[in-house]
Amino acid sequence: MRSVSILATGSELLDGRVVDTNSNFVAKELSERGLKLKRVLVVDDDIGELVSGLTELSRVSDFIITSGGLGPTSDDLTRDMVAKFFGVGLAEHPDGVAHLEQFFAKRNRILDAQNRRQALLPVGAQMVPNANGTAPGFAMAKPGGPTVVSLSGVPREFKAMFLETVLPMIESAGGSAEQLQRATMKTFGLPESTIGKLVEALHLPKEIVVSYRAAFPEVHVVLKAPKSFNLAPHVAAVEGALSKETIFSTDPADTFITALQKLFLSKGLTIATAESCTGGMVSEILTRTPGSSAVFQGGVVAYSNAAKEDLVGVSRQTLHQHGAVSAETVRELARNVREKFKTSYGVSISGVAGPDGGSDEKPVGTFFVGVSSAERSFEKRCLYISERQNVRTYASYVALDLVRRAILGLGVPDGYPIVR
Ligand code: ATP
Ligand code: MG
Repeated sequence: MRSVSILATGSELLDGRVVDTNSNFVAKELSERGLKLKRVLVVDDDIGELVSGLTELSRVSDFIITSGGLGPTSDDLTRDMVAKFFGVGLAEHPDGVAHLEQFFAKRNRILDAQNRRQALLPVGAQMVPNANGTAPGFAMAKPGGPTVVSLSGVPREFKAMFLETVLPMIESAGGSAEQLQRATMKTFGLPESTIGKLVEALHLPKEIVVSYRAAFPEVHVVLKAPKSFNLAPHVAAVEGALSKETIFSTDPADTFITALQKLFLSKGLTIATAESCTGGMVSEILTRTPGSSAVFQGGVVAYSNAAKEDLVGVSRQTLHQHGAVSAETVRELARNVREKFKTSYGVSISGVAGPDGGSDEKPVGTFFVGVSSAERSFEKRCLYISERQNVRTYASYVALDLVRRAILGLGVPDGYPIVR
C-alpha cells in the first residue's frame, strides 16, 4: 500500500459545527502501524464538489477512505459520488437490504422506502458491514485505479468499520507496516522534557525513529525500526534510562486505568477513595472501565473540614494543628476510608488546586496523597504548578500511580513530577 487518503464529507465540517475526528482517528491508527496518510480533504455535501474531491485524491492515492453521507437523507450523496466517479449506476445490494431489514426488525421498526435507499450501492461495489448503525458501507476499485471505501460518518460506526474491515484491507495490500516493528512505553511521572533528554542521551542508532506523545498526564514513547533491525537491546536501554518503574505499560492498547485495573484484578485487590480537591475524580477514573465493580468499592468526597471530620473521621485536632492540606490529614483519610469500605487499599488526596487559596508554605498546586494498606502506608507531598483542572487531574494520577507502586512493591519517588 503506497498511499492512503481521506475524503471527509459534510457541510458541518466546513462551517465549524463538527470537528473532523474521523480523519484524526485514521491518522493515529495508521501511524501506530508505521503508515502515514497522504492527504485529508474536507468537502461540502455537493455532488460536484464531492466528485472533484475524489478525483483530486485519486491522482495521488491508491486507497481513499470516504467518511459520511451514507444516510437516507437528500444531503447524503456519497453513493452517487462513487457511482459517478466509477461511471456506474446504483443498484440495491441484497446484503444491504438484509442488513437493513434485520436492523429495523430488531428495533420493531418498519423499513420504509426512504431508509431502504441506504441499500443502494454503486454497481460492482462490495458491501462493508456496519455493525453499529443502519447505513452499510461499501468498497469499490477500478483496475489500475484507486480503491475507494465509503464509511458512515458517525464516529462510533466509522471507527468500528475502519478497524474491522478497512485496516485489514490496507494491511493485506502490503503496507510499510509489514516492514516496521515498534516498541511502546507508556509512562507517568516524568515530565516529557525529561524523557526527551534521557532518550536523546542514549544516542540511539539512526534506524530507530523515536516519537513522543503527551496524552496528559501520560507520556507515551514509541520506538520504530525496520523489521530486520535488532531493536530489543535499545528498548532495554530506553527502559533503563526512564527507569522501568515509570513505565506503567508496554501494551499499545492499555490506558493507565486499564493497566491498573488488570493489576488489581490479578491480585484480587480492592480500593476505596477519600478525596478533597479532586472532588471525586479518582473515583470517576476508577469507574471508567467495565469490570470496575470488582475493584472499586466506593469513595467519599470530603471537601469541607466538617465532611473530613464527620464522614471520614479525621480528628479535629489533626485538622486544627496541621490543616486540611497536610500529610497527617491524608494519612487519616486513607486509613479511615480503607477501614470504612473494608478494602485492601485506601487512597486520599487533599490539596490547593487554585487559582486562589495558596500560601507561602503551601502554594497553589500543592497536594498531599495518602496510601493505606495493611502492609504499607505512606504519604507524599507534591507540587504541580498549572491551572486548576490540570492540577486536579495530575493529583488523581499521582494517587493511582502511588497505589500501583505500592501493589508492585516498587520504589516511591520523593514527589511528582519526578526529578531526574
Ligand atoms: P447517517 O446514517 O447517520 O446519516 P452518514 O454516513 O450519512 O450517517 P453524516 O450524516 O455525514 O454520516 O454524519 C453523521 C454524524 O457524524 C453527524 O453527527 C456528523 O456531524 C458526524 N460526522 C460526520 N463526519 C464526521 C467526521 N469526519 N468526524 C466527526 N464526526 C463526523
Ligand atoms: Mg447523514
